[in-house]
Amino acid sequence: MNYKQKYKNLYQATSLSDYDISSEIDFVIEMLTGLSSTDILLGKEISSADDIKISEILKERVSTNRPLQQILGKAYFAGNIYSVNKYTLIPRPETEFLVEKCKQEFPKDKIIKILDIGTGSGCIAIELAKYYTNAKVTAVDICQEAVDKAIENARNFCVLPKINFLISNVFSNVQESFDIIVSNPPYIPFSTKIQNDVYDYEPHTALFAEDEGLFFYKKIITEGKNFLNKNSLLAFEVGFNQGHDVAEIFKQNGYVNILFTQDCDSINRVVSANYL
Ligand code: GLN
Repeated sequence: MNYKQKYKNLYQATSLSDYDISSEIDFVIEMLTGLSSTDILLGKEISSADDIKISEILKERVSTNRPLQQILGKAYFAGNIYSVNKYTLIPRPETEFLVEKCKQEFPKDKIIKILDIGTGSGCIAIELAKYYTNAKVTAVDICQEAVDKAIENARNFCVLPKINFLISNVFSNVQESFDIIVSNPPYIPFSTKIQNDVYDYEPHTALFAEDEGLFFYKKIITEGKNFLNKNSLLAFEVGFNQGHDVAEIFKQNGYVNILFTQDCDSINRVVSANYL
């Protein structure tokens, strides 16, 4: 059976691109059956029970516009499947550049302490806990339901013993100091119009920030000085046009080696700096 074409027909009423439709269908097939798009091309069959489930999920996606990752409760990050819920931002591929930047800072086996602010699904904290063999990671979020998900993910990836999860409004419940502080904070200005499915379903506390989206950068860069060890790294994901503003805030606060990392679209997506 030509599954791909059959599922594509369900998307007729949407304005999604062919590419997005195709990747959404591949994602659902893979999550439900374990079959890749190549398997389907090669003619592997989907059981009729799975076929019914896949059609139901795609119908829900199209009729409600709810992101597929929320319907399935799963999302890819750094090639791994994370569990997500409506309280956690769906991990984005751009955020992998932030993780990579943090991985380049110290030797893999160095004994270091890492803080992830606004951990959400826990994707950043968990990838860093997996990479840095001797790291002690603290992951904070203001939202209990997000922390519960992050704990579930950390358990699935066998790094729960390495991560201390805390409910904290930025630094409010943080008591130690760190070699890396990392954050993908809310950074969209309240005035920005964003994609409907994101606006309608993803947590606004994880998306929007005051002060033209710069509120959390200012807070973390200034207050962070009390929580950073000597020769430490502070690294952020930033919005597509915020790189230079964030670099300026770093500069005003005496940080050095202020660097941009570009994403696949050549956007300054990560801004990082050292605190001496
Ligand atoms: N740290 C999480 C992520 O990168 C959540 C970020 C957020 O909610 N703004 O996906």
